[in-house]
Amino acid sequence: MLGLMMNEPLRIAGLLEHAAKWHADTEIVSRLPEGGLHRYTYAGAHHRSKQLANALTALGVSSGNRVGTLAWNTHRHFELYYGISGIGAVCHTINPRLFFEQLVYIINHAEDRLLFFDLTFLPLVEKLAPQCPKVETWVLMTGRAHMPATTTLPDLRCYEDLLAAHNSEYEWPTFDENTASSLCYTSGTTDQPKGVLYSHRSTLLHSYAASLPDCFNCSARDVVLPVVPMFHVNAWGIPYAAPMNGCKLVMPGPGLDAASLYELYEQEGVTFTAGVPTIWFGLLTFMREKKLQFSTLRKMIVGGASCPPALLKAFDEELGVEIRHAWGMSETSPLGTVCTLKPQQLSLSPDEQFAIQTKQGRAIFGVDMKIVDDAGQELPHDGAAFGDLLVRGPFIVREYFKADQPGGLTANGWFRTGDVATIDPAGFMQITDRSKDVIKSGGEWISSIELENLAVGHPAIAEAAVIGVPHPKWSERPLLVVVRKPESEISKQELLAYYEGKVARWWIPEAVEFVDQLPHTATGKLLKTKLREDFAGYEFG
Ligand code: ADP
Repeated sequence: MLGLMMNEPLRIAGLLEHAAKWHADTEIVSRLPEGGLHRYTYAGAHHRSKQLANALTALGVSSGNRVGTLAWNTHRHFELYYGISGIGAVCHTINPRLFFEQLVYIINHAEDRLLFFDLTFLPLVEKLAPQCPKVETWVLMTGRAHMPATTTLPDLRCYEDLLAAHNSEYEWPTFDENTASSLCYTSGTTDQPKGVLYSHRSTLLHSYAASLPDCFNCSARDVVLPVVPMFHVNAWGIPYAAPMNGCKLVMPGPGLDAASLYELYEQEGVTFTAGVPTIWFGLLTFMREKKLQFSTLRKMIVGGASCPPALLKAFDEELGVEIRHAWGMSETSPLGTVCTLKPQQLSLSPDEQFAIQTKQGRAIFGVDMKIVDDAGQELPHDGAAFGDLLVRGPFIVREYFKADQPGGLTANGWFRTGDVATIDPAGFMQITDRSKDVIKSGGEWISSIELENLAVGHPAIAEAAVIGVPHPKWSERPLLVVVRKPESEISKQELLAYYEGKVARWWIPEAVEFVDQLPHTATGKLLKTKLREDFAGYEFG
């Protein structure tokens, strides 16, 4: 027997309709690539998104067509999220930090028909255009005043003119909630970029999950600033969760430096924010130098890479901000786990609590996870056994876009994340490595992340990476590659001695190398494939 409830499909446009109706005066504030701040409300955003929907329809965009964006976090990008997905087309957010060849590959693979881009990216788009023949229309996301006098782009359109030519009379269509809504390619740290094609249903379910108290905990009293870009994994779902909850939304545009961010936090009364550890390290250094404090910021989501304990502690103790460590990936929409304490842990000492908070956390509702050994056997939740992390749920990828063969999934419906993790008896997951980065020494596994976290906890070290290097006896041994802080003169021996007593003896790196900088991916993660190339043939002295 079926239930007798209304069967209304979950649709992304419904989020903005809700915000425009019930949080009509709540603001969206954006720093613009052209300079200055733009300010309007959810009612204004809805009005313009409907104008955009009419404009897209007039340009011949129809259900399932891919429309690309190369843009910062701004109100116009927000309108594209809703206008494109709202009409049933696919909003393909493109990460401008990817390498040129990857951008060409992605735009052609996605078969984008239109491409919307910010003024910052005009020179890049002019170079891309000759290699992306399937793009029919190029739209510069700006007003008439900032349109270039000359450009090599054929028939370049102006975003504001496009909107002005259309009214806001538009009824968002209703369709199957499994309809594709947006597309995001993984940055290809380990492989060719792969497209994750989200649906209206997966996005809405993820948005509910992201809003929960032990996740973002967002409410209509919150002011949220996503530092995490809308061009990478939908800014962790914040552009959807904010209107769902009626949060004021503050968009940083291209101003991702510490001074610009701090100014917006204070000026706009931001209560919570989200981004990768590198951004927070920059902010911390800036605030220490200038002896600044936050007036309203209380909560910070850190993810995308492991959050070093030193960062967590500094924000908590010096700046009074709760850091929530989260794990996820493009394939998980992206939230998979978030770390908040359970009641029985509240009586632990601050250091014991920090130790738990540096873990990646507990599965949020909608994500099931397990760790397995090489033979696929499930491993115990004892906080010690390492294994491949598998996940499943309604907002986890089933198959990559246009995959030659169904990819990613194991035979029985779990997605293999490519991460290696432990799960403790209380259910807290801890990433110990990417499966390709784990160091196998004498048949045992060593976590490169744990060794890196310890190194950056040393006051003389700016950044650290640990890679496995072939070893005649142990098959692989860890090599620590570090960037010292400018004024520091710490020696290799001192650094190795620092590990004594902090990890098992056989985990202590075999050697240390000092470098001026470490290689990073387009999204700011350590590029260990390059580092392994750089140290190929390395011999321990
Ligand atoms: P890619 O880097 O392949 O494009 P994503 O940007 O989606 O993919 O990043 C996902 C990966 O980032 C995860 O598989 C994991 O290795 C890493 N990651 C994400 N969050 C964390 C975290 N909190 N701690 C450690 N690693 C993380």
